[in-house]
Amino acid sequence: MKTFQEELVVLLKARYPIIYIVTIEEERLEYSIRNTILNKRFSNLYIWDFIEGFNLNPMKKDCGKRNPLGALEFVETMNSNTPSIFILKDFRRFLTDLTISRKLRNLLPLLKREPKTIIIIDSEIQIPNDLKDSITILKFNLPSPKEIRAEILRLSQKLTLKGKISQKTVENIIKACQGLSLEKIRRVLGKAIVIYRQLDHNSIPIILGEKRQVISQTKLLEFWAVKKRLKDIGGAYNLKRWLTARNDVFSEKALQYNLPIPKGVLIAGMQGCGKSLIAKAIAFEWRLPLLRLDIGRLFGGVVGESELRVREMIDIAESLSPCILWIDELDKSFIDRNYDSDSGTTSRVLATLLTWLGEKTLPVFVVATANDIKSLPTEILRKGRFDEVFFLKSPDLNEREVIFEIHLQKFRPESWEIYDIKRLSRKSTRFSGAEIEQTIIDAMYVAFSQDRDFTTGDILLAIKETVPLIDIAPLRASKINSWARSGRVRFA
Ligand code: ATP
Repeated sequence: MKTFQEELVVLLKARYPIIYIVTIEEERLEYSIRNTILNKRFSNLYIWDFIEGFNLNPMKKDCGKRNPLGALEFVETMNSNTPSIFILKDFRRFLTDLTISRKLRNLLPLLKREPKTIIIIDSEIQIPNDLKDSITILKFNLPSPKEIRAEILRLSQKLTLKGKISQKTVENIIKACQGLSLEKIRRVLGKAIVIYRQLDHNSIPIILGEKRQVISQTKLLEFWAVKKRLKDIGGAYNLKRWLTARNDVFSEKALQYNLPIPKGVLIAGMQGCGKSLIAKAIAFEWRLPLLRLDIGRLFGGVVGESELRVREMIDIAESLSPCILWIDELDKSFIDRNYDSDSGTTSRVLATLLTWLGEKTLPVFVVATANDIKSLPTEILRKGRFDEVFFLKSPDLNEREVIFEIHLQKFRPESWEIYDIKRLSRKSTRFSGAEIEQTIIDAMYVAFSQDRDFTTGDILLAIKETVPLIDIAPLRASKINSWARSGRVRFA
């Protein structure tokens, strides 16, 4: 993959007229652009912001001050044979103004003719339709491990720290800092130093705390703190065996053993059959952070923005590796349909996600869940994306017994054995795990309102009053069965 600087050089050399760079790290970006320009001899750099105007131009000081149109006129009239780059900060806010967007479009022939490039930098993307085709979006990546290492070195040389930092601690701190901006890294390391007068293992929780906050601000991923265990799941024995065999795959020992890192699993099945429960239990059993992706948030915005968001999501997940990335309701966004209606955004997002799934080298274990596996595009199910595709069917008699037992034990840890679990299981054919749990909760409500404890009879009544979802939305069982016979999916 090309670095930011390499991509920028390509765009500059290919004479892209307007480049839009998204970043929250203005200062680092400026530094990086300056370096690129110096290295590649694009000589002139002019930087504009609303308050100061083009503050780098001594001849025309204050040019374009509080005047975005004036800034564009400067771009137009500036006479030079040497390639020039004009950085316009916060310009997103002016693009919706007709005067500005018209002026930009009028400038396009000139930008192609003369060696001039406009670079808009902003923390968000917002491009009006009439400018979409003329603007190219570029992503400015967060600091690399190398840059973070340099920052740690700089800080430890500048500040007098207690004792020397071991190489291993440096590696761990670098890993914890990945996914944060340089400004945040400086601040959080400063905080750790103020508290402990040292950078050591104590710094890690402080950095991770900061990272949690940053991640929740992106609104793409959510941290989930869970305490579910595989034994809290009734049934799914094949899947549980598969997972148990991979218990220590992310350990140092497994790394030494050269054990291939599992990519992930796709778990399909109707609503309430325990797919989310399994994602949570994997994270807890493997003692890894669980990140839930809000897939809907990947979409929206202007052309190109969704792909940037997928990359951002991948960067964050990888910066937290080893971790579990839970992609819930995969089928909702990627149903097998004609994607033409959204200018190919869905296909491009899917392609980015699938390429990453197939090629990822960092230990991010993906647990994708889907209600309707049949509607998923076939490329998702192709070998090499997930290690296995499991289908959770509705629980059989024995599995229902276990599920009743699990939930009765949860609600009545002392007296759960008084309930006639065998009878309850016989009477709840085709019920999902969630429906079984709900019948117990319904029974509890009724009994509580009558000031008594709930009985097997109350649960039986709740069962009678429930129509299992599978009866309302029957799955084409024959289809799933034939897929299972061909090895495309495995019963969980
Ligand atoms: P959805 O597709 O609606 O998100 P889901 O398949 O992810 O549903 P869960 O959210 O995991 O289902 O299930 C809801 C609740 O039902 C669980 O938190 C759990 O209490 C109970 N449940 C479901 N399946 C099982 C099971 N196999 N064993 C024990 N409890 C279960």
